[in-house]
Amino acid sequence: MTTITRIHNFAAGPSILPLHVLEEAQRDLVSLPGVGMSVMEISHRSSTFENILHNAESDVRELGGVPANYKILFLQGGASLQFSMVPMNLLTPGSTADYIDTGSWAEKAIKEAKRVGTVHVTGSMKEDRYSRIPSPGELKFTPDAAYVHMTSNNTIEGTEWKLLPDTKNVPLVCDASSDIFSRPLDISRHGLIYAGAQKNLGPAGVTLVMIREDLLGRSSDALHTMLDYRTHVKNDSLYNTPNTFGIYILGLTMKWLRSQGGLAAVQATNERKAAKLYAEIERTGFYRGTAQKESRSLMNVTFRLPTEELEKVFEKEATSAGLDGLKGHRLVGGMRASIYNAFPEVGIDVLVAFMRDFETRRG
Ligand code: PMP
Repeated sequence: MTTITRIHNFAAGPSILPLHVLEEAQRDLVSLPGVGMSVMEISHRSSTFENILHNAESDVRELGGVPANYKILFLQGGASLQFSMVPMNLLTPGSTADYIDTGSWAEKAIKEAKRVGTVHVTGSMKEDRYSRIPSPGELKFTPDAAYVHMTSNNTIEGTEWKLLPDTKNVPLVCDASSDIFSRPLDISRHGLIYAGAQKNLGPAGVTLVMIREDLLGRSSDALHTMLDYRTHVKNDSLYNTPNTFGIYILGLTMKWLRSQGGLAAVQATNERKAAKLYAEIERTGFYRGTAQKESRSLMNVTFRLPTEELEKVFEKEATSAGLDGLKGHRLVGGMRASIYNAFPEVGIDVLVAFMRDFETRRG
């Protein structure tokens, strides 16, 4: 038997998957039990795959507490395509969409929405270098807006909303790509939630969309078939060939999350993991967190060292020590430890020990 070595994977996405999920997929890769073919070799219209899809959907519903009046879709095109599909379907002519600008991904969502209709940007944190989440008083919503768009976790800048903004009767649309199912979330406060799978849900190539049924009435018949949410609802995410393998892995990941005790238990672990890392960042002042304390993300921990030279050395030495993916996003530099659901707590202890040793040698 060969020995398998896995290093500590701090990548921002695609990112670490639960080892249990990888092992299960590996065991069944060549022949699904009772099927005799790989999941990648069967029709998306076979009863086997339909079962896989429906189980994935019901596990998402169960895990996330998704109410019955929300549809669950598995789409393609990443969260980036949702930047377009959301306004194309929900921003009806003559209305305005409010966008809260909390980071680089929010900016990209705004850019696409502006191509579709009128956009009002509120709570922009750009001048604060996206280092925090706006306070309720900084949000000025348009009365009767088509929707309010937010980004629950800012993957690049390392900030995360702790409480949802109060949008009254206006539907809240949330890009939850980098913190979905890292903690319990109140789906009923949203009109639509979307997330690329490649951080907390599974591999790249699947996008989870949850949409409140009544919002489907807004889509125009002039929309292209593939860009109309109604197409995917009507066809159970099987209008065209979906990412069958991705949905399969997403389903296994949902089962794994449920086996961890559900989202409240997952949140407790995530809080413990992040707290250890932030405590080390704050310990002496050698490391400096870039997000303001009350806005710090549980998923993407961003920090700097005293100089860019030291950051380069840190990254190089960390990589040699088996700590991979710690380089910050190219837009902001510095370091970023992405510690999604599947990242084990023991890996945090290894990083903390490395940071302490590095500071002793280089501080
Ligand atoms: N939104 C957020 C918050 C993200 O982190 C990302 C990807 N890192 C995206 C959108 C874009 O996702 P995709 O690459 O799936 O289009």
